Amino acid sequence: MIFLAPTLATIAALDPAAVAGRGAPVPFVEYEAENGVSDGALIGPDRRFGSIAAEASGRRAVRLASGNRLAFTLAAPANALTVRYALPDGASGTLGIYVDDRRVATLALTSSYGWFYGKYPFTNDPADGGGHHAFDHARILLTQPIPAGATVTLRPDAGLDWIVIDLADFELADPPRARPKDSLSLLDFGGDLRRAVAAARAAGKPVWIPPGIFRVDGHVDVDRVTIEGAGMWHSTLTGEGLGLYGKDAHAVTLRDFAIIGEVTERKDHLQLSGIGGAMGGGSVIERLWLQHHKVGLWFDGPMDGIRLSGLRIFDMTADGLNFHRGVKNAVIEDSFVRGTGDDGLASWSGGEANRDIVFRRNTVVAPVLANGIAVYGGRDIRIENNIVADTLTQGGGIHLGNRFKAVPLSGRIDLTDNLLVRAGSFDPNWKYGVGALWFYALDAPIEADIRVTGLAIIDSSEEAVMFTGSSVSDVTFSGVRVVNPGSHVVALRSAGKARFSGLNVWGLKTPAILACNQTFRLTSELKTRTSACDPR
Ligand code: CA
Repeated sequence: MIFLAPTLATIAALDPAAVAGRGAPVPFVEYEAENGVSDGALIGPDRRFGSIAAEASGRRAVRLASGNRLAFTLAAPANALTVRYALPDGASGTLGIYVDDRRVATLALTSSYGWFYGKYPFTNDPADGGGHHAFDHARILLTQPIPAGATVTLRPDAGLDWIVIDLADFELADPPRARPKDSLSLLDFGGDLRRAVAAARAAGKPVWIPPGIFRVDGHVDVDRVTIEGAGMWHSTLTGEGLGLYGKDAHAVTLRDFAIIGEVTERKDHLQLSGIGGAMGGGSVIERLWLQHHKVGLWFDGPMDGIRLSGLRIFDMTADGLNFHRGVKNAVIEDSFVRGTGDDGLASWSGGEANRDIVFRRNTVVAPVLANGIAVYGGRDIRIENNIVADTLTQGGGIHLGNRFKAVPLSGRIDLTDNLLVRAGSFDPNWKYGVGALWFYALDAPIEADIRVTGLAIIDSSEEAVMFTGSSVSDVTFSGVRVVNPGSHVVALRSAGKARFSGLNVWGLKTPAILACNQTFRLTSELKTRTSACDPR
């Protein structure tokens, strides 16, 4: 027997030691395809919109043709895996999973959830050009665990012209959780979730989703109920237009199951969220797997008091999460988001301010449009210990804006100990870059007390920090580390005022400051020259 060294495991394509204390604490070990062993073709690095590699974690992936293979040697045992992959549009097929050359599973693949075309909010018609959003995720729970040290090989089965594999997440999924006492089982209602919920609400008991896959089409009103499953790998709801919706901002508890939709297009007049409506009063949503909706979770306030934790959000046609309008005392933490079609996590104070919102220890990777974490107006908001990686177009890693008719930012806005890697993007309309940390005073000047502490910006696509719009003040930066920025450290495209202390910059290739607006009052330790605005 040959013992191979384990494949390099990474988080957001970085050494896990480099990101300690930031991002979602996930139970899986992540292997980028580009760190595996393969006779396929490495693609990337590339950041150009329209290239498949630019949409990949780490901006690199491996393309396998028929007969090619990709192998990972596991650092830890696993009985479940998730593969992020792209196929040609219109294709479907299967991927063989081999352990030490023995076939153990078959992963079903489809291009149905990938490939969008034309102008925002996009079509499914290749004739419109501009093909993008190539990737989708497939997952499988194995019957036998794979030991550490085993080599797992992925081989496309006959019939696929090619497959691009971005990465694979391997984990040891927990066994099914026990049914809660006094719960009403979905099976006792013939799998009819609406009837089960109505009975549970009347009886004041929880609904139990046993292991299995249950079809639920359309919205289900889950007001004032608790729904629990055996775990996100064991209990799955799936269906067309499937969404669990709150009403009147009452308490709802949802935990330990998967909600997998069938949304293959973005139509913004349709409510196609995995979870939606208004939930408050101490609502708890935890350890859910959400995939293939328009939006993972879209809340319309007013509502007060919700905690979202340990979620996995994949493959949306629009946002991962949006707290919309009048949401108070809301927390999203320890959650992992990859491959959304718009902002990964957003707070949008449209018409009524959100307040006391916390984004904590989340990882957001590869939104194919807009930002990793976006805050549109609102007051008293904390964004702390998150990782955002690989934003693609018209967005930054973290974005604060007075936009979309939001009630302007006010009170205290804290960005603490966040890490932005390969974030920011080239804006094709503006014809210039968007910073990894992006401020945009579009509808009104930004005048909140904004404090940015312990920020790391690594390998930004364009500027590290960017101010745009009318005026942005007062922003205080302390302990900012900028490594290999794609362009300037700070781009001043608005009026305003900011102060940097404890700024460390490595690998700067351009003047530190881009001064398009000479009235911006910047206090910093930057010793390098300032350049005038580049009219590219
Ligand atoms: Ca990759």
